[in-house]
Amino acid sequence: MTRPDVSPHRARRRLVTLALAAGTVLAAAIGAWAQGDLGFTDTPLLPGGRWYVHDSRRPHPRVVDPGIASSQAAPGRPPSDAVVLFDGTDLSNWRDGEGKPSKWRLEGGALVSTGGAGQIVSVKEFGDCQLHVEFATPVQVKGSSQGRGNSGVFLFNRYEVQVLDSFQNPTYADGHAAAIYGQHPPLVNASRKPGEWQMYDIIFTAPRFKGAELVSPAYATVFHNGVVVQNHVEILGPTVYRQLPKYVAHGERGPIGLQDHGNPVRFRNIWVRELKD
Ligand code: MG
Repeated sequence: MTRPDVSPHRARRRLVTLALAAGTVLAAAIGAWAQGDLGFTDTPLLPGGRWYVHDSRRPHPRVVDPGIASSQAAPGRPPSDAVVLFDGTDLSNWRDGEGKPSKWRLEGGALVSTGGAGQIVSVKEFGDCQLHVEFATPVQVKGSSQGRGNSGVFLFNRYEVQVLDSFQNPTYADGHAAAIYGQHPPLVNASRKPGEWQMYDIIFTAPRFKGAELVSPAYATVFHNGVVVQNHVEILGPTVYRQLPKYVAHGERGPIGLQDHGNPVRFRNIWVRELKD
């Protein structure tokens, strides 16, 4: 085999081209290294005095698998960092009001509010959080107003997001499905028909106390079937009936409660993501 004929002039030109290419790559690498991940540190300081605009040193968000949305036929898959409170298989994450195993029924992968069994509470406790709950009011419509498909989702087992069959079921405004019961009616009535699966996505900011004194109230944002129905509303205190609420100091974390209001409301796919400062 004969060697290809390369003149000294050509070889020198190739070497120069190679060196230039390598130099470009090296310069880019040094530049990227100097700027962290291509951010900046010579930009204005953001309010708070900690980070610059596009700060190259600012920690990146954690990667989370967002899961899969539910359909009427099947519950979805929670985000990878969620604490799952009910996945259709057992009631081990729930207790009754006295701390004993829950007597709510498990039927076809759903948790059923069972008359007389009382409110149930999650074993785990949460502070600020994102809570996802799916529910279906009974297919067979019975009762009216607050007597139809009534249950509730209680943050800290105190602050209720109302669950009700609000499909063509008149009742007082602050008692509708997705109301902060007794305080804030939902912005719209986004209810599905009885028997259909519905969902709440609740973003809850816990109240802060200093001793017995309220430092800042609780806030809630609620999506009902994907529709914003509570937009960062201030919660006035624990849920009460026919009274004005009044805060009573409590700890930084509390359980999620589900109400037994005597109607067989079904629940599925319940999960929580804790939100930290
Ligand atoms: Mg209720």
